[in-house]
Order: sequence, then C-alpha cells, then structure tokens
Amino acid sequence: MMNFKCIRCGACCCWPGDVRLKDGEIDRIAAWMGMDAGAFLEEYTRLTQDRKGLSLRDQEDGSCVFFRHGDPPSCFIQEVKPEQCLGFPLQWAHEGWEDDCGAAIEAWNSKE
Ligand code: SF4
Ligand code: SF4
Repeated sequence: MMNFKCIRCGACCCWPGDVRLKDGEIDRIAAWMGMDAGAFLEEYTRLTQDRKGLSLRDQEDGSCVFFRHGDPPSCFIQEVKPEQCLGFPLQWAHEGWEDDCGAAIEAWNSKE
C-alpha cells in the first residue's frame, strides 16, 4: 500500500455514495469556480445519505457531478477537490475497494 500509485482510471469517482464536503471546502471550490457559495450549494450539493452533512451531487449514472468521462477521465475540480477524494485509498477505503480500483487491479495482475 505504501507504493500505491493512482493511475487515474476514475473508477472511484463513479462508485455510489457520498463525496462529503468539510467546512471550508464549499467556499474553496465555489471560489475556484467563480461562484458564490450559495449558488454552488444549490447547484452542486445534496444532503449526505445520513442527512448529517453535504455531499457533491451525482450525475445520472451515479458518478460524481464533477467527473468527466473521457480518455483519460478527469476531475473538473482536480485542483481543489475535497479531502475525501485526496485521502482515498491511503487514508480511508471501503471493504472490497481493491476489486474496482484500477491501480490495485494492475498491481495484483503484475504479480501473477
Ligand atoms: S470531486 Fe473529483 S476526484 Fe472527487 S469524486 Fe468528484 S470527480 Fe472524483
Ligand atoms: S480507482 Fe484507484 S486508480 Fe482509479 S482513480 Fe481511484 S484511486 Fe486512482
């Protein structure tokens, strides 16, 4: 895990679930986008599933609102993305993440 190197496959931006926003992140992302915080909240956020906080919204296919499908896939707010995104998978990860993470799959296949 210490040698983990993200290959930016984008899979973790497409998994269902919340992309939680911490204090300060809304203002930071909104400012980077040239929006005021209220407009940003309205357009790009929703309540988390436990209704205790805010998450980025989802696109119709379940991917994060800021995920851009393409080759390569990308994050529209890469420079200011939330801490939750920065921390995956070294600071946190859900059970079974290795089965879908492109870098983990590559590492596993290279051992075979
Ligand atoms: S903010 Fe960017 S890195 Fe985070 S889930 Fe959305 S698209 Fe992915
Ligand atoms: S799923 Fe893994 S390799 Fe793909 S973008 Fe996320 S952390 Fe990087």
